[in-house]
Amino acid sequence: MAAVELKGLSKRYGAAVAVDDVSLRVEHGQLVCLLGPSGCGKTTTLRLIAGFIEPSAGEIEVGGKVLSSPSRTVPPEGRKMSMIFQSYALWPHMTVAENVAYGLKIRKLDRATIDAKLKAILSTARLEALADRYPGELSGGQQQRVSLARALVVEPETLLLDEPLSNLDANLREEMRFEIRRLHDQYRYTTVYVTHDQAEAMTTADLIAVMNKGRVEQLGPPEEIYTRPRSEFVARFIGGSNVLAATALDEVRVSVAGGALRTTGRSLSAGRPVAVSVRQHEIGIALEPPSSGAENHLQGTVTRQVFLGSTRDYTVTLADGTELRVTAPPGRNIAPGQSVWLHLPAEQCRALAEE
Ligand code: ADP
Ligand code: MG
Repeated sequence: MAAVELKGLSKRYGAAVAVDDVSLRVEHGQLVCLLGPSGCGKTTTLRLIAGFIEPSAGEIEVGGKVLSSPSRTVPPEGRKMSMIFQSYALWPHMTVAENVAYGLKIRKLDRATIDAKLKAILSTARLEALADRYPGELSGGQQQRVSLARALVVEPETLLLDEPLSNLDANLREEMRFEIRRLHDQYRYTTVYVTHDQAEAMTTADLIAVMNKGRVEQLGPPEEIYTRPRSEFVARFIGGSNVLAATALDEVRVSVAGGALRTTGRSLSAGRPVAVSVRQHEIGIALEPPSSGAENHLQGTVTRQVFLGSTRDYTVTLADGTELRVTAPPGRNIAPGQSVWLHLPAEQCRALAEE
């Protein structure tokens, strides 16, 4: 059993903190995504786990054994880990089969064992027909599958993936997300998967750790992260939320841009500032004013509108200048300059924790 546990892990470069007191446990067989914007410390965390760099503080345990600490760090070759980088780094002069089998050869396994393992992984990764090709004769997605197969075949205790799909085009990226999850379900290696792409994390992960400025800001299953963001950062980063600056009127209602909204999520104290998040596609947009007494409506003006095929994307500016993004069905076309009424359903207006 090889759970990976980060305990108070930090990495400093001079005065700059790349990873700041991260604690995180990845259970055996689990796939955890580190999700966050560029520069938030994802790659540094992964390199710490792999043993390429030493922590400034904290520890990394794998299967209960300390592999990294400021005083002692086991080098990468002493860890049963495979790491896949953004660039696939296949050997150009070796065929697909030779690339994949390389890790088995240097472990000096016998010919029959190597052949059996190679055959199994090529089949799983759907690479049998390409076994004798060279990397230069493969598409990006095929090269990515070779890179995955090469990492999986050595049966690592831990698999580390750093933005493995970022060099692929959009369609292929989508397909490969499912592919990675499928391979994970088959092999169940303890996996840490780094990405800045929300959809990639939602598709592949058992747990998502949202990172911001070197810290884990929220950890939870994809659905929980999406439906119950705890901070403004997570709400904005995950799934297109608007975040409104409001003032509490009582325990559940806030005043914002000259209107009032009933909110959910926590109990408010009157007079306190509160950030309220609401997703773009939860907002209704109409030309007609609501019936009198209807709650949770705000008036604004369409300032931008984009047709995206399956949806229309509006920017609506409220009386106080606040801009809201609204994703609406494509059928109705409301032109910029039009005055509109927005409906922000109370159960979708989440009062976020105070920072
Ligand atoms: P991410 O992978 O999330 O984009 P990184 O882990 O690569 O982020 O980097 C986190 C922060 O640490 C960045 O501000 C980066 O500039 C800094 N950093 C990373 N590696 C080094 C290094 N070797 N020396 C100095 N600063 C570094
Ligand atoms: Mg990175």
